[in-house]
Amino acid sequence: MSAQFIDGKQVSASVIAAVTEASALLEAKTGIRPGLAVVIVGNDPASHAYVSSKSKMAERCGFNSIQHSLPEDTSQEQLEKLVTELNADPSVDGILVQLPLPSSLDPDAVIHLISPEKDVDGLNVVNAGKIATGDLVTGLVSCTPAGAMLLINRVHGHDLSGLRAVVIGRSNLFGKPMGLLLLAANATVTMAHSKTKDLVAVCRDADILVAAVGRPKMVKSTWIKPGATVIDVGINRMPIADGENQKTRLVGDVDYAEAVEIAGAITPVPGGVGPMTIAMLMANTTIAAYRAHGLVAPLNFRP
Ligand code: NAP
Repeated sequence: MSAQFIDGKQVSASVIAAVTEASALLEAKTGIRPGLAVVIVGNDPASHAYVSSKSKMAERCGFNSIQHSLPEDTSQEQLEKLVTELNADPSVDGILVQLPLPSSLDPDAVIHLISPEKDVDGLNVVNAGKIATGDLVTGLVSCTPAGAMLLINRVHGHDLSGLRAVVIGRSNLFGKPMGLLLLAANATVTMAHSKTKDLVAVCRDADILVAAVGRPKMVKSTWIKPGATVIDVGINRMPIADGENQKTRLVGDVDYAEAVEIAGAITPVPGGVGPMTIAMLMANTTIAAYRAHGLVAPLNFRP
């Protein structure tokens, strides 16, 4: 038996369509488009590719999209000055500082400086704290967990009562907010990490297994309870032999070829959680822009 394919491209397209409509409606009402400022520091090619696709998608959604590309040797003070200016700029509704930053910079200090109302990545303490206290309404929810949750909702609905969920990974970026969203949806949640004993047995107990580790194909079919929903968040670039050319392909944290035979539903990589992250970033920017005008964004999906 082969698992149900959870199509992140299709779900993200429906989010983008709703966002584009909401953005046009805001402009019709106020004459102002949602504004997204994306800040990138340094020359990392993967980060530049992400930022360019975020900026392009923002334009497709009808946003005012602004990109700030800073050199590798940017100081903490210079970066914080830019964020402070963007916080004060009324044409900017959302600020995203692309991570990782060069090692000379302190990402936490920068993230916490972003005004919570404009923190469309949902990573600063105010937004993280709101999720932790069960408030999924008044803040901005971190994009990748919010997107993963939408995919889980497609399979299980919004109430996960009685289901066991295991998240492998406990990062502030993904694992912790994912665990909290699952908990808020009434799942019984385990957050596993590198110090977890007998990880395979922990995972085999999961009705919903979410892998966010950064280790290619780590999760094997023997880790998966038959019929479980498997959400693969991992993005790992693997080199592929192509004559003289140095090419890579994307591989998840789950061994898809094995897992698809035992899971009940599964996300692919690419085309699963990845497209959801960018869609939820656009949704958060729209929500922030409506709030800036004292309005509620007409988006009917929720994490
Ligand atoms: P991270 O900060 O490096 O965290 C990795 C987590 O995995 C840590 O909690 C770590 O445990 C745990 N871990 C490492 N090795 C393990 C092992 N052998 N067994 C069990 N747990 C282990 O990474 P992240 O930022 O959360 O990202 C994780 C993956 O998701 C990466 O591949 C990243 O590219 C991907 N990602 C994708 C998107 C997207 O848009 N689709 C967005 C964000 C992240 P400890 O805490 O004990 O060290």
